[in-house]
Amino acid sequence: VGNESIAIQTESVSTGDGHSIEVAANAGTNADIQTAQEHGADGIGLFRSEFLFLDRAEPPTEAEQYKTYRSALESFPDDRVIVRTLDIGGDKQIEYLDLPTEENPFLGERGIRRSLGPDEDLFKTQLRALLRAGRDAKTGSGTLAVMIPLVSTIEEVTDARAMIETVASNIETKGVDDAPDGRVETPEFGVMIETPASAFLAPALTDHVDFFSIGTNDLAQYVMAAERGNDHVRTLGDYRQPAVFRAIDTTVRAAEGTDTWVGMCGEMAGDPSMTELLIGLGLTELSMSAVSVPRVKTAVQETSVSEAQALVENIREATTQDMIKSLLRTSVR
Ligand code: PEP
Ligand code: MG
Repeated sequence: VGNESIAIQTESVSTGDGHSIEVAANAGTNADIQTAQEHGADGIGLFRSEFLFLDRAEPPTEAEQYKTYRSALESFPDDRVIVRTLDIGGDKQIEYLDLPTEENPFLGERGIRRSLGPDEDLFKTQLRALLRAGRDAKTGSGTLAVMIPLVSTIEEVTDARAMIETVASNIETKGVDDAPDGRVETPEFGVMIETPASAFLAPALTDHVDFFSIGTNDLAQYVMAAERGNDHVRTLGDYRQPAVFRAIDTTVRAAEGTDTWVGMCGEMAGDPSMTELLIGLGLTELSMSAVSVPRVKTAVQETSVSEAQALVENIREATTQDMIKSLLRTSVR
């Protein structure tokens, strides 16, 4: 089936039995925001803010970031825009940041580890820009949410939260020239679940966050010890591996009965053959590259939650990737 044959739906969608699921898009640039709108995305589930920092000689100023975040929020006035704070390190390098030379950069100083360490000043500037944009954006019910990448301890989460509180209270007392009044409300706050540590700690993390967003690209890489993008270990690093499924299942179960909601922003979320499984697990938000939005919206509408839960029960019993694949095949109508 060609992409053209899938109708674009701008309204939010529900399963056949009436459970609404947010189908959002991932973005890194203003152009991506527009593509997301054109494909009927229900907001932005992952704004990869590091794109603002790449391919330039120095970091973007607070004013420049403010403008970009505010414009993203105003592009989706009725939807949530989740901005992920700087995720640098790993495979993403930036000249002006003086990153260390590491033998295993994916296991090194990356994501929140840098933001709470050598890049703390950048992190504070980014948070100021975000909080001000969230306060000033002219939106309907749309809201800013902030999430942090590569979490592996509770302290990282409490430290990042404390930093947000501090930045927010400084904005309140000092004000800023272009918007001197107005209390800054702290935005919805979440973490990426993309390390095995964060999946194991999910029950404890629910006390500290409003939401989880499962990043299957890194989660699969780290659970399976199989480098993402490395063709030699592609089958191993696949999200249909039972060990990856179990990490996801553990995370969603941890949030059950709490106020923490669970979404997904890794590649798995944009694969329509996974939609039924993810809904059956209990995810309520899926974020993906914009071009996948129409297909996944259709897949949501074709799903019945009770059938999806039966599929999950079967997949829980699967102990090999082949078993998972064949269960998924039989479920696809
Ligand atoms: C992920 O790891 O699944 C993810 C969505 O983040 P990124 O691909 O930017 O690392
Ligand atoms: Mg990631």
